[in-house]
Amino acid sequence: MSDTTAPIEPGLSGKNALVTGGSRGIGRAIVERLASSGMDVTFTYVSNDEAAKAVIDENPDLKITAVKVDVRDSDAARQCVEDMADRVGTIDVLVNNAGVVRDNLLPMLEDDDLKAVFETNIEGVFNFCRAAVPFMMSKRSGRIINISSVSGEKGGRGQTNYAASKGAINAFTKSLAVELGRRKILVNAVAPGVIETEMSQEVRDLAGDEITSNIVLKRYGQPSEIANAVWFLCSDLSSYITGQVLSVDGGFKM
Ligand code: NDP
Repeated sequence: MSDTTAPIEPGLSGKNALVTGGSRGIGRAIVERLASSGMDVTFTYVSNDEAAKAVIDENPDLKITAVKVDVRDSDAARQCVEDMADRVGTIDVLVNNAGVVRDNLLPMLEDDDLKAVFETNIEGVFNFCRAAVPFMMSKRSGRIINISSVSGEKGGRGQTNYAASKGAINAFTKSLAVELGRRKILVNAVAPGVIETEMSQEVRDLAGDEITSNIVLKRYGQPSEIANAVWFLCSDLSSYITGQVLSVDGGFKM
């Protein structure tokens, strides 16, 4: 039982985290937040070498390692997790953040738009969970945080493929939490609203004030605000939370 009079200790220092898609946007903020708490953080990216290098170069005092791995490649995911375990000893936290959008109205969606979104946003999460879970099971501890989206629960024009992928992640999160609870592995999701990153740039440019007027807090979110929620779900402070989808959307879903 926790002592509510003791200073709050997140319990992250010295632990190891793997964050997919950590070179830019929300993923980068998560990498920096966890590494700033004393974690040894490995992140993946798919193509942007320059952005990945910047995360390392701009944080010389933090323990951060970048690995170029496409989350859609299950063999590469397995290899990435095994290499990380060899290098740092084990894996305590997995954050499945890498994701893509290919928005369009349903009749205009190409096969590639479905494939890219489902393979990255759904299969990528399966690939990294399948690779990391055995390490967590043998330790009987671990945290998995999946980055979902407000679109997983709230309808959005032109987002059928993306919304379906994030709805799948919400369902996946709950089932995996049930599957792994006995092994003391906690599985949760964070569902961001519209966050100021490259991914949402086009939507924000097109929407003008239309979106912000529907957000209770009347503004877009920042990557750091998602990273703070992920930090909480990785920490000892969330020890009795599993199978949940935490909305961090300024009230957009309501
Ligand atoms: P960005 O487009 O800014 O960054 C995406 C990151 O994912 C990059 O690091 C990119 O690597 C990486 N990535 C993309 N595809 C792959 C792949 N196949 N394999 C490995 N890495 C990959 O996205 P955001 O930061 O905005 O989004 C992060 C997550 O948050 C996503 O899951 C997204 O769906 C979710 N989200 C975002 C919202 C928003 O408003 N921004 C709202 C709700 C949810 P590289 O740099 O090499 O391209």
